[in-house]
Amino acid sequence: MNWEPSEVDIEWTEAILETLEPGKSWVEGEMTFFCTEDKTLSLVSRTERAKEPARRVGIVLEKLGWNYFTDDVAVIPDDPLEAMETMQQVASEWDCPHCNDERIANFDLERAVWNNDGMHTAITENGVEEFPRWTVNAYCPQCSEAVPLSPIDYSLLVGEDSFYTWNVNKYTLKAMSREDIIDMVDNKTNVVTDVIGTEWHGMAVPPHMQGTFVSMTPIDEEE
Ligand SMILES: [Zn+2]
Repeated sequence: MNWEPSEVDIEWTEAILETLEPGKSWVEGEMTFFCTEDKTLSLVSRTERAKEPARRVGIVLEKLGWNYFTDDVAVIPDDPLEAMETMQQVASEWDCPHCNDERIANFDLERAVWNNDGMHTAITENGVEEFPRWTVNAYCPQCSEAVPLSPIDYSLLVGEDSFYTWNVNKYTLKAMSREDIIDMVDNKTNVVTDVIGTEWHGMAVPPHMQGTFVSMTPIDEEE
C-alpha cells in the first residue's frame, strides 16, 4: 500500500486543481469531488471499487498542499441496481445551491426546461468527438433561482416517467409507452399526438426524446 505518485500524476492533478474554484465539482473515473473552499476538496461519492483510487488522490492532494475531506462520502455499490438506488438516495438529499433552503427533489421538476448548450468536445473510445450538451433548468420555489442539472442528475431526481417529458413551445410532450398507446386506441381517448425527430417546430430535441411517439398537452390548460 506504499503507493507513491509519479511526477506525471502530480502535474496532471495540479493542472485540474488549477481549474477548480469553490463551488465547482470534478468527476474523475468513479469518483466525484467538490471544491468547498480554497484548496479544499471533498470526496462526494465514489464506487466501492474506487476505494484505492480515492486514497491515492488524497496522497497527491497532500503533496500539493490541499485539504481533503472524505467523511461525508457516499459509497456507491458496484452492483448496478443497488448503485441506482444509492444514487437516487443521494440525489434526493441535494439542496438548492443558491439558498440551501429547499431540496431540489421538492422543486416543480416536471416543469424543468431543457437547454441545448451547444456542441462540446469529449474524449471517447473513438478519440475526440463532438457532442451536443444539454442541461435541465429547474427553478427553486424558495429563491426562484434556476438550478442547472445534468440529464443524468435530472433522471435520478424524477425517475423515468418524468424524464421522458419535455416542456417546449407551451406544450408538454410526453413519450407514450406501448401501454399508453394501446389504452388510447382501445378507449378512443382524445389525445393529441406527434412523432419526434431531431427537430420539433424549429427546436432542437433532447436526445432521449428523439424517435419517440408523444402525447401533447398545452401547458396553460394544465394550470
Ligand atoms: Zn433556492
